[in-house]
Amino acid sequence: MNKLNLLHSGLLIASMLISLAPSLVHSAETDAKKSHSPSAVHWEYSGSAGPSNWHKISDKFALCGSGKRQSPVDIQYETPANLYPLVFRHQSIPLQVVNNGHTLQANYGTLITNETVKIGGKNYPIKQKPVYNSQMMLGDLPYKLLQLHFHTPSEHAINGRRAAMEVHMVHQSADGNLAVVGVLLSHGKQNPILQQILDNASPTINQVNAPQGLTINTSDLLPANRQFFHYSGSLTTPPCSENVNWFVMKSEIQVSDQQVKRFTQLIGNNARPLQEINWRSMLISE
Ligand SMILES: [Zn+2]
Repeated sequence: MNKLNLLHSGLLIASMLISLAPSLVHSAETDAKKSHSPSAVHWEYSGSAGPSNWHKISDKFALCGSGKRQSPVDIQYETPANLYPLVFRHQSIPLQVVNNGHTLQANYGTLITNETVKIGGKNYPIKQKPVYNSQMMLGDLPYKLLQLHFHTPSEHAINGRRAAMEVHMVHQSADGNLAVVGVLLSHGKQNPILQQILDNASPTINQVNAPQGLTINTSDLLPANRQFFHYSGSLTTPPCSENVNWFVMKSEIQVSDQQVKRFTQLIGNNARPLQEINWRSMLISE
């Protein structure tokens, strides 16, 4: 092999490494985001494309019918356990709202916009990739916050009772596992974050609104008491993948009747029916 070939194959390997590494990471992120993005396969919360038929709509949705570790569930008969506390390192980020047809979602990836690379005297913008700067620590393991979104009524029930709404904060570890923090919202005063999202949500499906100068932080979505229920379950939307560590806060936060009404006008009811707990244990942090 001559010098040129050596150089060439070296470059090839280097470029393969560069292109492979991000795509592995990215595919897991994309999968997580797909949980609430309109895929080619259409599904709904009622009628012939509703929850009892999700598994028939596509082979990829089979787990929605056959899975034994599905979510949401009715939370009861919990066992106290010595669990890692949930440590939130969530930052304020520019608000980015999307109505994906199934929910209103705030994306937590921020774009770095002003980085360039100089080639031959010219500046070229570096391909933009979202940066996730908020995370939750589970012990030593960081899970980055990808997005948060809402359901009405709540998807989880506590001792048979569903609340007015539920927010899901979707986190993902480097190896692709999901940790979703669920907080129930009961009727009461207005929630500031939900109001920002409602004020900036578009009735047009898939339109992302990123109003200048507005930032959000999840602190208004987390109850002061951080005691939580924990069980292993699934995405509550197709494809119902069973790789989700669920953390449902025991304390609820509040939402105003008007906010529930506005959300219902835009999205409609978007809670999957309760699923069987089967042999799974429901734990509660001490
Ligand atoms: Zn959800």
